Amino acid sequence: MDWASAAIGAFLASALVFGGTALALLPVMRREFLIWIVARVSATVVMVWGLSPMMPSPAFISAEQRLLAGALATDLGLAFTGLMLASYLETRIIARRERKLLRRMQPYSLLPIALLPSVIFAGKLDWLHDILVLGLIGILIYGLAGAIRQGSRAATFQAFAWAPALLIAIAALFHELTVGGMMPFYLEAMGAALMVEFIITATGVVDGFMRFKSERDRALADMREAKLATALDPLTNIANRRGLEQHFNAKGRMRPKGLALIDCDHFKRINDQFGHDVGDKVLIAIAQGLDSGSLFVARLGGEEFVLLLYGEDWQEDAEAARRRITQVVHANIPEIPYPITASAGLSAIEESDTLGSAMKRADKALYAAKESGRNRSLALSEFRPASSVGGVA
Ligand code: GH3
Ligand code: MG
Ligand code: MG
Repeated sequence: MDWASAAIGAFLASALVFGGTALALLPVMRREFLIWIVARVSATVVMVWGLSPMMPSPAFISAEQRLLAGALATDLGLAFTGLMLASYLETRIIARRERKLLRRMQPYSLLPIALLPSVIFAGKLDWLHDILVLGLIGILIYGLAGAIRQGSRAATFQAFAWAPALLIAIAALFHELTVGGMMPFYLEAMGAALMVEFIITATGVVDGFMRFKSERDRALADMREAKLATALDPLTNIANRRGLEQHFNAKGRMRPKGLALIDCDHFKRINDQFGHDVGDKVLIAIAQGLDSGSLFVARLGGEEFVLLLYGEDWQEDAEAARRRITQVVHANIPEIPYPITASAGLSAIEESDTLGSAMKRADKALYAAKESGRNRSLALSEFRPASSVGGVA
């Protein structure tokens, strides 16, 4: 076997692997360009078969018919290349105008194709056919160059992939237009160039797929983070009202036994006397003081907090949390010379309760706690002090 037929054999094998892989990926990736890759690879195989005298041919096909098939596949392959590029390049990178032009390579290719019978059977208008094909190649280079200018990675891969085949095609066309006839070693050179192309295009597709995957993973992570962030209060970094609702309504989570609505006493006075930033520090300290492993804490807004309590002694737990406020604020903001206190309205959570209905009762209890002198916990059912009530510990 001479090296020319070995080159064509290698080309056919790589076409089979490349085209087969693209076809196999089609149901997984569902991207249009894979269809055009398969169409292009098939066209190049027909092209090599039609133009190479070394390839076997059935007896009922004349040499000219075979040549016609090869030339037709060459022109169609060029159009498929435009369609592949239009659907392959990153949507946000390639301009609409260029994409449209690349897609139009399909109808435009009908012009040189229409001339093929005259070129092959009558030996006429060869030059016009070649000029039209050069025009198609021009559109391809224009689209590719535009995408590379916009920073398209996929286009850069394709430029490297197609450069050898394009150079050979242009050289062959010039040879045909000037010297006439087929350029020596055209088929062997084209076979090798297309093999290089298949390998680089395949690498580009894998590269694009990996990048797409990592971009998608990053976007998903960002989305998860953003979703978490919308459920957090930015000042205190504990849950906000949305976080509270999500927590309360989360499926499969244990139902809390009770709810406490906690409001800092005379908070406005802190802001007025020490400034808003000290007020903010107090809010942060309150959030810290309320937080504990056995309860869920959220900031409703202003200086109002909600506790969801899970223990059997949930009223005691709420009261202990309420009292911790005074200690934590004192420890963290010593410039406030008097004890900071808070009042709490407590409500047991019944089976039929929604977050809203439990909060409503707790709010009434909180109002009663404020009315009866502040710095205490009250449960609505009793309207009398809950387990431990009184002044600052
Ligand atoms: P009461 O004992 O009756 O609860 O008195 P209060 O002064 O705490 O009551 P009020 O609800 O009228 O005051 C809440 C104040 O909290 C009013 C508002 O300026 C302040 N505030 C709300 N959000 C913030 C915040 O994010 N930072 C600071 N520093 N102040 C806030
Ligand atoms: Mg208050
Ligand atoms: Mg308030």
